[in-house]
Amino acid sequence: MTLLSEPLQFSSDDTATGGVGHVTLVGAGPGDPDLLTVKAANALRNATLVLYDNLVSKAVLELVPASADRVYVGKVSGHHSLSQTGIIELMVRLAKGGRRLLRLKGGDPYVFGRGGEEAQGLVAAGIPFDVIPGISAAQGAAAASGIPLTHRDYAEALVLATGHLRGEADARTVDLDWAQLARPRQTVVIYMGVATLPVISAQLQAHGLSGDTPAAIIERATLPGQRTIVGTLATLPEIARTHDVRAPALIMIGTVVSLHAELGEHASAVIGCR
Ligand code: SAH
Repeated sequence: MTLLSEPLQFSSDDTATGGVGHVTLVGAGPGDPDLLTVKAANALRNATLVLYDNLVSKAVLELVPASADRVYVGKVSGHHSLSQTGIIELMVRLAKGGRRLLRLKGGDPYVFGRGGEEAQGLVAAGIPFDVIPGISAAQGAAAASGIPLTHRDYAEALVLATGHLRGEADARTVDLDWAQLARPRQTVVIYMGVATLPVISAQLQAHGLSGDTPAAIIERATLPGQRTIVGTLATLPEIARTHDVRAPALIMIGTVVSLHAELGEHASAVIGCR
């Protein structure tokens, strides 16, 4: 692994043909390597240079040939890490130098992965690229915990939202359309929401969603040690605390969560959790 605090030195070189290189944005899926698409697995096996971040599991990275260069661009405490702009600049610099690089992102690159921003940066710099989708954490978590995201009897809409804090340092808040999220007969899946659960729970209740609405936290979906913790909208902050929930974790809110009692025990037979 190359950390960005060190000068980048590559062992492989595929720039011999000259000209501008290429970037492939690849979805690594939620963690279990068997959940990669065939296209993503092939791209990984043929990679010579991989830029990856936090959520990419070790088992997925193992598919990359030993001879390939791996550059970690996520955050490691105590180490320098790149800003999003810095990551885009690095991709552009490498591709302009003729490299073909694989940008590996957890889940799907176009679901909360800032893949959209990276793609825009590549377009602006005139770098050719393509995108290989991945199974997003919501889909991985649904299958692995026995919670269908939609169901004719319970939910005909699915909303993916981020619980990430936004705004200036002194006024950071979760800025979501609470009235829309509190509507009945839909499933709300919140990414990056563990830290802000008290706000999410309180706001949804303040906007009319019953505190008794079934809710779950799925930690490390499809990864070893996966946990599905079921409660209600009102108890979410408390269950996160008492079970010491850690990232990565997803929050699911909606009546579909009640199906976990019936379908949950069959879930790990469906997904080969390693
Ligand atoms: N592009 C990714 C999401 C990136 S945002 C995707 O499509 O899945 C990062 C958030 O995704 C995490 O904070 C967490 O909420 C969620 N996440 C990613 N992998 C997960 C996993 N294996 N289990 C539970 N949540 C996960």
